[in-house]
Amino acid sequence: MKAPTSLDELIDALRCLPGVGPRSAQRMAYHLLQRDHAGAQRLASSLDYALEHIKHCEKCNNFTEDIICELCRSPRRDAALLCVVEMPADLLMMEQAHCYKGMYFVLMGRLSPLDGIGPREIHLDRLVKRAQDDVVREVVLATNFTVEGEATAHYISELLSNKDLKITRIARGLPVGGELEHVDSGTLAQAVFERREIS
Ligand SMILES: [Zn+2]
Repeated sequence: MKAPTSLDELIDALRCLPGVGPRSAQRMAYHLLQRDHAGAQRLASSLDYALEHIKHCEKCNNFTEDIICELCRSPRRDAALLCVVEMPADLLMMEQAHCYKGMYFVLMGRLSPLDGIGPREIHLDRLVKRAQDDVVREVVLATNFTVEGEATAHYISELLSNKDLKITRIARGLPVGGELEHVDSGTLAQAVFERREIS
């Protein structure tokens, strides 16, 4: 078997992207090498920079270049409210809906035992610690209304059940199986206003 050439290596590397199979990886590699050297250069350097500088905020776990992100540092946010979302895109949706002025915790995923994603992979130990900073009074569970999102919300509500916190779940103005990222901001705002307490 011959050693992989740098072209083979590039094609193989591109396959780490979600949904990219061998054929599209090949197309991307040819495109970058033949038609878009500048784009390829930009991709390589921004990837390099991002890997070097972007980390997770120590408070909310979202991506940031700082130790504590801008949102977590803002004095205008209500620190008594902590909203749990699955992904950074969900946080952005919440912000665009202008319905919420509290803090966040971004799980960077959801419980999904079949994919090997358990409580540790989505940093639930850090969430439990974050929720008990003596300032947070209410935890708003805003995970998606998918099977995994619901299971994650349930698991978190159990974890926090004896911690002297009000635990709420955003209301189901959202469609079953719906992901926050794909919901219009009016519907999302309604769901946050109508959130209900989880007993
Ligand atoms: Zn933060």
